[in-house]
Amino acid sequence: MKITNIETIALTVPLLRPAVIASGSATTGFHVLIRVHTDAGLVGLGEASPIASTDADTPGSIVEVVSKRIGPRLVGCDPCRLQDCLALIHTAIPGNQCAKSGVDIALHDLVGKALSVPVYQLLGGRSRQTISVIEADIWIDTPEAMAAMAKEAASRGVSAFEIKIGKEPEVDFKRVEAIRKAVGPDARLRIDCNEGYAAGTGLRILRAMEALDLVYIEQPVPRWDIEGMRRLAEALDTPICADQSAYTPQDVMRLLSCGAADLICIKIPKSGLGHASTINAISEAAGVRCTLGSMLPLGIGAAAIHHFAIATRNVDVEMGGVYGSPLDYFVDDIVQSSTVDEDGVIRLSDAPGLGITIDEDKITRYRRTWSLAVTPP
Ligand SMILES: [Mg+2]
Repeated sequence: MKITNIETIALTVPLLRPAVIASGSATTGFHVLIRVHTDAGLVGLGEASPIASTDADTPGSIVEVVSKRIGPRLVGCDPCRLQDCLALIHTAIPGNQCAKSGVDIALHDLVGKALSVPVYQLLGGRSRQTISVIEADIWIDTPEAMAAMAKEAASRGVSAFEIKIGKEPEVDFKRVEAIRKAVGPDARLRIDCNEGYAAGTGLRILRAMEALDLVYIEQPVPRWDIEGMRRLAEALDTPICADQSAYTPQDVMRLLSCGAADLICIKIPKSGLGHASTINAISEAAGVRCTLGSMLPLGIGAAAIHHFAIATRNVDVEMGGVYGSPLDYFVDDIVQSSTVDEDGVIRLSDAPGLGITIDEDKITRYRRTWSLAVTPP
């Protein structure tokens, strides 16, 4: 089997509510559908889902990089030589993590289909049967509004919350305090600062927040401030989780070799399944557990996260953070059926590849044309 063509289609799907984090806000998701075609008629499905305020990729750059740099290297290759294909992706151009991840996901789907096995089998088989993903993201707002949002979710049975902060340190304390009061002492609270604090400010405010009983603190300082992460990890009792500091296996080697993170947040849309497995192996060898973030993908990216979560023992799914259904965030999805059941549980069948089918009408509806001059707001 040989790869004949790689197709890219930019899509925009509105969010149900604005997603506000320290680095920016969004009302719409920007995605690129990637289809890897072969001479055997099999098609691999992938998706790139950059977050405009945190990722270096844009929809336009992804279309350009996949069509002009990565695609030409893969045409003519046998996708079942997966390691060789992934090496071609990663040496095609520096950076461009989201573009590379989208193609990586499509190749895994394709190889699973070619071998008639689910992607989780390619990743080592099941390490767990099911994952419950009933939790809530609380986006940045006033302390009162965030507490009300958390209370509403708690009334639906949600007991785990990811709280987005990192804007104004003093107000951030009030935000987390108000949520703790609203949802009670047993709720599991995680905070994600999305690079919002300078290292000095971070220590003072985060030390105060520790009294509110947090599961972990994610990406408190800018991604480049490895020394700041190390100082916080040393000074605080609550685990420090690296997200934007941890895109590549090399990033994770650097972080863990100097004690700059207690947890690593793996995101398939930023690292791809191949490098996510390497990042997980490095972390596991260092005695560090991984969590799973998302970058709000649609159904293809979500399925890739779910296969990785089912397969990977060192991912701590109990700690929270595993992405559920895109329909919890977006007005619509592009797949015919989700890999999360209606009860909020990931089960996964033994269907080949990612086990999903695209809804072509949805692709027509949400398709957008991006010129390189256009950058999403
Ligand atoms: Mg994060």
